[in-house]
Amino acid sequence: MTNHVTAAARLLLPEPAEIVEKHSYGKDIHVFRMRLVDPGARPRFDFLQGQFNMVYVPGVGEVAISISSDPDDQDLEHTIRVVGRTTGVIGGMDVGDIVGLRGPYGSGWPLHEARWKDVLVITGGLGCAPVTGAIEYMFRRRANYGRITLLHGVKKPADMVHHERFEAWRREPDTQVMLTTDEPDRSWRDRTGVVTELFQEVEIDAGRCIVFMCGPEVMIRYAARILSERGVSEDHIFVTLERNMKCAVGLCGHCQFGPEFVCKDGPIFSFARISRFFGIRGL
Ligand SMILES: Cc1cc2nc3c(=O)[nH]c(=O)nc-3n(C[C@H](O)[C@H](O)[C@H](O)COP(=O)(O)OP(=O)(O)OC[C@H]3O[C@@H](n4cnc5c(N)ncnc54)[C@H](O)[C@@H]3O)c2cc1C
Repeated sequence: MTNHVTAAARLLLPEPAEIVEKHSYGKDIHVFRMRLVDPGARPRFDFLQGQFNMVYVPGVGEVAISISSDPDDQDLEHTIRVVGRTTGVIGGMDVGDIVGLRGPYGSGWPLHEARWKDVLVITGGLGCAPVTGAIEYMFRRRANYGRITLLHGVKKPADMVHHERFEAWRREPDTQVMLTTDEPDRSWRDRTGVVTELFQEVEIDAGRCIVFMCGPEVMIRYAARILSERGVSEDHIFVTLERNMKCAVGLCGHCQFGPEFVCKDGPIFSFARISRFFGIRGL
């Protein structure tokens, strides 16, 4: 019993990490590179693209944040949007400050299964953080993937994070990048409208295509319906879900979605697995 409790407690213990780089997009979105204070702890943080860490600020709180760096990098990158109490405090932190990290938790994107296939990535709102690392991962191993299509929609141009990365990806071979905004301003050079409007311009070979999707659930539901109509199997559509979560290890039940726990069964699910719960109010 004692051993069991000790192991469980260790699972929940944050590991100190130092912020070694910070890049801000406006006042609300911040990209942090974090380095574990004990380099010996890094192997325990080996992660799959799409998994997340709990980022802890003593005396304030703990929040689930996706890991957006490459698994082979020593440092861990987290992109944080300030929405409330804990993210507000983290957003105000700077190089040299220390946070606690525990993780990684949850499921990753099926990057191995996607090898040799065409990959369509659809992101909406500020939802690109959980998938940015997966996109980088594929471009670092470009020969392993077929055609890569990135469709990214934001509400307003100021919400566009990692613009420079999208510009670099645009120059990759056999790659299509389309960006769109609901509310263009004079600086905007790309499309106008919601991300699903871009589908008409995208070639989809349903038999060899795998889809990664991240964004508001209404976008996911609508996009999945269009993709199904175009012959893409729900088994080949993968989505990441967000729910308020506390423990991240399937104990507290805060993040339940039907019979699934977003923290340990997700956050990445095949649409086939969860489609019947989508759109049920309150889930
Ligand atoms: C698996 C996973 C991965 C995530 N990855 C990222 C990421 O890479 N970057 C990022 O910025 N955020 C990410 N989030 C969301 C992040 O965890 C929340 O924004 C954060 O918990 C808010 O905490 P807070 O104390 O700042 O806000 P609070 O003061 O707790 O809440 C502020 C408002 O946000 C709402 N809220 C809180 N948590 C969530 C949530 N998880 N989903 C929807 N609404 C919420 C509250 O109901 C409230 O209205 C992720 C969440 C999950 C579950």
